[in-house]
Amino acid sequence: FEAKRLRQPVAVYNPGAEAARALHLSLLSDLHTAIQQDQLRQFLQPKRDLKTGRITGAEALVRWHHPQRGWLPPGDFIPFAERSGRIRQITDWMLARAVRTLADWAAQGRAPLYIAVNISTLDLQDQSLPARLATLLAEHQVDPGQLQLEVTETGLMASGTDPIAVLHAIRRWGVRLAIDDFGTGQSSLAYLQHLPVDELKVDRSFVQDVNTDPRREALLRSIVSVGHGLGLTVTAEGVENDAELAIIRNAGCDLVQGYLLAKPMALADFETWLTAQG
Ligand code: C2E
Ligand code: MG
Ligand code: MG
Ligand code: MG
Repeated sequence: FEAKRLRQPVAVYNPGAEAARALHLSLLSDLHTAIQQDQLRQFLQPKRDLKTGRITGAEALVRWHHPQRGWLPPGDFIPFAERSGRIRQITDWMLARAVRTLADWAAQGRAPLYIAVNISTLDLQDQSLPARLATLLAEHQVDPGQLQLEVTETGLMASGTDPIAVLHAIRRWGVRLAIDDFGTGQSSLAYLQHLPVDELKVDRSFVQDVNTDPRREALLRSIVSVGHGLGLTVTAEGVENDAELAIIRNAGCDLVQGYLLAKPMALADFETWLTAQG
């Protein structure tokens, strides 16, 4: 039976693909109402400074609380949002949510933290992004230095138009920039020196099992050295256990983020967690 199917691959009825297409179409139309009906949520995952032990900030990660499908992770809808051009609405929602939280924390007298929002390649092609950011920050009287944007290394390289001018404009307003998933893209060190970024986030693939793989440790150490050579803060992402943390600390990483410290949390849970840290 199996052999017969393999001999006629084109004629094979594939209910999987059809169902997937139907799911994508319906997700796309649902995404249209997700923002209006307040179905998006912003989760926050903290970052710790390894030298001071302090929590310095948090990364904002989008979740979609879908009325029928339940909680959807970004990987299930961000790619569609990018292809359909709806990503800008998600980005704007995430930025506004983050800035409102920063304003609330300031009003509550909390020690200032920063929030990092992930932005997509398409956002970088939008020349209006820097001005939109400036307006948003001014509206809520938030210090631009408390907002950070994360751009993936692959996103930078894939960008149709040169993103450097937009990045410089954003940086000029005082908003900080990080390169996300660093080490997985194709950017050259020559390119890196021209980017107005503050932080390198070492991709989890260099962090996972770094304690048992000496080659991974060697790569981690060289990334830290490049980052520090350029005057950047180096963050290890996806740290899950103490054995990994020990190597990461020893390699000189500045900040850590990962399940070992905390999973991404809804705002109220994050605030409770933060208070418990003292
Ligand atoms: P990212 O920016 O690299 O975010 C880190 C991802 O790793 C998050 O997955 C986070 O939940 C997960 N993570 C954190 N610590 C650990 C750990 O210790 N172990 C493991 N295994 N995973 C860990 P998430 O939330 O599913 O997000 C996936 C990706 O989706 C993000 O990767 C980011 O590229 C994208 N994304 C998330 N939110 C947004 C958004 O608002 N806008 C855009 N454009 N992209 C977003
Ligand atoms: Mg990120
Ligand atoms: Mg990352
Ligand atoms: Mg990632």
